[in-house]
Amino acid sequence: MRIPIDPALAKELEAKLDSTTELITPESPKYEASLSRWSDGAVKRAGAVAYPTTFDGVSALVKFASQHSLDLAVKGGGHSTGGTSSTTGGLVIDLSRMRRVAIDTEKKLITAQGGALWEDVDDAAIEHGLATVGGTVNHTGVGGLTLGGGFGWLSGMYGMVIDNVVAAKVVVPDGRILTVSDTENSDLFWAIRGAGHNFGVTVEFTYRAYEQTTPVYFGFLTYTPDKLTAIVEALNRRFDNSDPRGGAMCVFAQPPGAPSPVVNAVVFYNGNEKSAKEYFSELFDLEPLNIAAGEMPYNQVNRQLNPLARPGGRKSLKVATLASPVRPEYAVTIFEMLMEQLKEEPDMASTFISMEFYDLAKISSIPPDATSCANRGAYRPGTIGLSWTDPAKDDAFRAWGRKIQAQCIEWIKQSDKLPSPGQALQYANYAEPDDVLNDPFGVNKQKLAELKAKYDPQCIFDKANARIEVPN
Ligand SMILES: Cc1cc2nc3c(=O)[nH]c(=O)nc-3n(C[C@H](O)[C@H](O)[C@H](O)COP(=O)(O)OP(=O)(O)OC[C@H]3O[C@@H](n4cnc5c(N)ncnc54)[C@H](O)[C@@H]3O)c2cc1C
Repeated sequence: MRIPIDPALAKELEAKLDSTTELITPESPKYEASLSRWSDGAVKRAGAVAYPTTFDGVSALVKFASQHSLDLAVKGGGHSTGGTSSTTGGLVIDLSRMRRVAIDTEKKLITAQGGALWEDVDDAAIEHGLATVGGTVNHTGVGGLTLGGGFGWLSGMYGMVIDNVVAAKVVVPDGRILTVSDTENSDLFWAIRGAGHNFGVTVEFTYRAYEQTTPVYFGFLTYTPDKLTAIVEALNRRFDNSDPRGGAMCVFAQPPGAPSPVVNAVVFYNGNEKSAKEYFSELFDLEPLNIAAGEMPYNQVNRQLNPLARPGGRKSLKVATLASPVRPEYAVTIFEMLMEQLKEEPDMASTFISMEFYDLAKISSIPPDATSCANRGAYRPGTIGLSWTDPAKDDAFRAWGRKIQAQCIEWIKQSDKLPSPGQALQYANYAEPDDVLNDPFGVNKQKLAELKAKYDPQCIFDKANARIEVPN
């Protein structure tokens, strides 16, 4: 059983910490701010919040938490909506003072500390004409996003984020700082690429980088809902016969002040405007109501969705996976469900639902057991991004999101696109701990349980969206 940290224990911990680690307790004027998360619904009243700045500082905290069986949470970018980076009464290790990024231009490698945000990585890399696969909203943390798999605009070309991690440094429950790679602690290296939230604090990631000296094309094409079927058909055709440089999202959202949602195609192409317009010609031919798109440096792309993903209010992410090619009638059903819900519940007006389209060849070329992330295949990940303000509606609105989540699984079960044995259907980073996850680790479940027993037998790291249990 995990225990809270009381004032006496906090004092004992403080005495053990180096001078660069700050420990905030409820008496501190900084306490309320230290609890803040992207979603107000993920705020929990911690017993103490520690801000380490060094690997040794993290190690001392983890060791203390293990020795005292403390309830422990690790915060990277703070975007978990299910509260997995928060604790009620326990100890938070907040990595936000560990955001350093270094670039090795010769080896084309990016090294980022475990508390870095994607903007830190994108901005540092582009200064050297480099880029890697990263989050599409650049204030998300590299920590949580990488450890669960990671999709981004460059996924068509280079795969998932984890496919580009070449090494990492992980603080495991007994306080050791382990280097992991294909040649060192390779079992833990395998485990952290998909199920990483369950194994330790990753204090450093090393990513493969790629030349990105030319601008890319990115933008929003907005349509009336009657175009939805044609849009989905165009996206299916485009991505069934694809070029890995392209990516798109089909997003249902209600513009501020509008009476009902509209359909947006968010488009990305790693090339110039002319090639992008040829690539997405079918979408342009569908006469969007509005086009806001253009060429920009790669590091600016992951800023463009930030205005749609502002912090504050109560939020919940739910994964909605559809088989590829996406059946347009399913997209229409989901759109209608959203339209009805927003009509009945105006407090949910900022809610969005998106379907993601990348060229799947690269992602699927890696077998589901090559890393611990088993959800690779002919599926389109999607997000139900619930947003509201009234805490009394937390359960009801989450239940509505889970209804769509369950419906998507049902559609796959009824289709001829059943997952192969061991293949997982849902991406754990787009979910919350109590969601209907269709086993996100698939074929890797048993091996992960064995590695959990090896590295974290006391289950100190117990707050992932998809938890790994120690076998009896
Ligand atoms: C607005 C928004 C946009 C998103 N866009 C994308 C996207 O483009 N692609 C994508 O794949 N996913 C995306 N996601 C999902 C995202 O991958 C998860 O929400 C992820 O958990 C966020 O990580 P974080 O570090 O910001 O969150 P946190 O809340 O800090 O952490 C989430 C989990 O990761 C753990 N964790 C964080 N850092 C570390 C670390 N260094 N070591 C060990 N454990 C750690 C925490 O303990 C917690 O369990 C998005 C989410 C949001 C809210």
